[in-house]
Amino acid sequence: MAARSWATPAHPRIDLYSDTITKPTPEMRRAMAEAEVGNEQSGEDPTVNALCRMVAELTGKPDALFLPSGTMCNQIAYRVWCDRGEEILLEENSHMLHYEAGATAALTGAMSRTIQGTRGMFTAEDLKGVMHSASRHTQKQVLVSVENTTNRGGGAVWPLEQLRKVSETAHEAGMNVHMDGARLMNAVVSSGIPARDFAAEVDSVWIDLSKGLGCPVGAVLAGSEEFIERAWLFKHQYGGAMRQAGIIAAAGVYAFENHVERLAEDHENARRLARGLADIEGIAVNPNECDTNILFFDVGGLGVSAADFSARLRAEHDIRIGHFSATSLRAVTGLDISEADIDEAIAACKAVAGG
Ligand SMILES: *Cc1c(COP(=O)(O)O)cnc(C)c1O
Repeated sequence: MAARSWATPAHPRIDLYSDTITKPTPEMRRAMAEAEVGNEQSGEDPTVNALCRMVAELTGKPDALFLPSGTMCNQIAYRVWCDRGEEILLEENSHMLHYEAGATAALTGAMSRTIQGTRGMFTAEDLKGVMHSASRHTQKQVLVSVENTTNRGGGAVWPLEQLRKVSETAHEAGMNVHMDGARLMNAVVSSGIPARDFAAEVDSVWIDLSKGLGCPVGAVLAGSEEFIERAWLFKHQYGGAMRQAGIIAAAGVYAFENHVERLAEDHENARRLARGLADIEGIAVNPNECDTNILFFDVGGLGVSAADFSARLRAEHDIRIGHFSATSLRAVTGLDISEADIDEAIAACKAVAGG
């Protein structure tokens, strides 16, 4: 086997790969350096406590829990809500089904039933289509999981009424509802709907700090006191209980105070990119389907593969946009991306498309 290389790969000049690549700003780093800290796992870290209280208030939930990642939020929530052999119902593009390394099967032992929706969302009718009545032959359906905004759905925001009907349908059938709110604040800023209104429809919800909010690490899971008490058990079991975690929680406090409204700039940049790409012959993109900071576009009309298009953008312009499928690419904006970067990206795409 080849020896592991410890070299850090070169960073692209303009990186539209993901909003996870955002770096903490100097002001955020200062807040982190000056954070008051304590032992997180015994509830003695004042900064973690402040962050959790902020998210509890924001989402209108009684309690919240600080965790190292969004994946752990999803996995702990699934573990709390499901027993082995029980079933989670969710849209076929959900993050959990694609990017969590099979964790729900490995750790909870739950089954997943997929729903074919639109842009990562589904209706109450779609949900009813995969529900079955209880019998000795069938697995128990216990949880509906939704993503807001949708990642593989192109950053779509759930219409509140649609979410309400899905939630009502689930609750009437005795199921709980979980919201993967990795980018919930993007949904809030884009729609003007308060986080607590989305959260009121679900039994558990979490927000990622390390995406558009720009923190280096962390996510916060919120729910009832009973839910969070149970979540603490799995936080310990999964190795997510921390010590002087206020150092990283301080970034979250800073982000909720300073980085929420500015998400509108990321959305405007994504729309600017969409409009620019729409003018390039052979690139298919729908600027009307760009609600937040994620944009998919298709290069099939150019007769090239998305992988080749992406490789040429990187090699010839030092711009990174990830290829998503055979002919589609995904661009994501964040706080390190300026309007000028977007204009350069559009020009680069035009150059690559032209030859
Ligand atoms: C990023 C993401 C996650 C996982 O969060 P991590 O902090 O990367 O573990 C889960 N769901 C969605 C929709 C995401 O975009």
